[in-house]
Amino acid sequence: MKNATRCVSLTEEERFGAVSTPIYQTATFRQPTAVEFGEYDYSRSGNPTRCELEKKLAELERAEHAFAFSSGMSALSAIIKLLTTGDEILAGSNLYGGSIRLLERLPRLGINVRYVDTTDAQNVSNALTSRTKMLLIETPTNPFQRVSDIAALAELTRANDALLVVDNTMLSPCLQNPISHGADIVYHSGTKFLSGHSDVTAGAVIVKDEAVAKEIAFVQNAEGTALAPFDSWLLLRGIKTLDLRVEKQCSNALKVADFLSTHPAVTDIFHPAFSGVEARRIHERQASGGGSVIAFTTGDAEFSRRIVESTKLCSIAVSFGSVNSTISLPCYMSHASIPAGLRDELAPPRDLIRISVGIENVEDVIEDLREAIRIASGSNVIAISKAVGE
Ligand code: PLP
Repeated sequence: MKNATRCVSLTEEERFGAVSTPIYQTATFRQPTAVEFGEYDYSRSGNPTRCELEKKLAELERAEHAFAFSSGMSALSAIIKLLTTGDEILAGSNLYGGSIRLLERLPRLGINVRYVDTTDAQNVSNALTSRTKMLLIETPTNPFQRVSDIAALAELTRANDALLVVDNTMLSPCLQNPISHGADIVYHSGTKFLSGHSDVTAGAVIVKDEAVAKEIAFVQNAEGTALAPFDSWLLLRGIKTLDLRVEKQCSNALKVADFLSTHPAVTDIFHPAFSGVEARRIHERQASGGGSVIAFTTGDAEFSRRIVESTKLCSIAVSFGSVNSTISLPCYMSHASIPAGLRDELAPPRDLIRISVGIENVEDVIEDLREAIRIASGSNVIAISKAVGE
């Protein structure tokens, strides 16, 4: 079955034949007797709407076990609870700012955190120690769109008895399935492509191994961080159009990236299709599209800020992956939470602009950006001369 079909197919015959999964908006379930439980007893532990979503997530990521969480961050929080005092986690050096903020809580629990550029597997090989129990990566990364070789890294972590965890938010399961390339755990901010409509905050953890899945299930139940029934339904509804949206967003993004790559005001552009030969080769092997997030620099932080604030169609917003195009300055927004001591090493530069391309008519998006750059150039002599190609 292809992804477009998987997105809309029902995983289970509903009791009354409903073709939209019902919302079981109930916190608790009647038991047959005081000492016997039915299939469900309490929604923190399990709920039929959430269960349907979890089956769908597992199916899309080509795995056996999936868990829906109240946010991408609670999903990551459950994953790092697999670690224990004395362990070490290696993390990619270009991660979402909130992930770094969360990881930076670990040293106080006696868990060491080190950051490494995972785009070169040799760096990871050099960095692994007997204490390393987890390697956490994004590919492509947010916001630089850097690509790491999932299969090569999986080989290294397997040999080191460590888990490879991949944040697959940037591409969605319709473009990339890291578990099929050897990853042990995949997680998502469901708030992005899985929802697609900016109307729900959600997270997902998808796991290959049953023993690991049991641990995640334990944390989800013990901490009560599972996704609520209505939000589970919203995510299920969003997923029905995931493949369709992603396909359109990818093709729009390529056209926007083409436009930006030849614009004289743009100094550098970041998107898998515009990366080096080796990164493109790796990306094409493990993913079926470049995604719809583009980052670019102008060489001038103030100029970049004026561009972002001059767009009309693209909303200034922190998230990505939605049907409508958004624009942001990651340094001040999504990556502002990187702790001060790590900003020089891990934060994106102040002139970096990130665009998440939506499903609008792409000519309208390009026109919005062209006009925003023109307006932003108005009060900047250097930028004006650049924008007119001098
Ligand atoms: N992973 C990535 C790549 C993200 O960009 C984000 C949020 O922006 C998260 C995880 C966290 O997800 P959430 O905001 O749903 O908690």
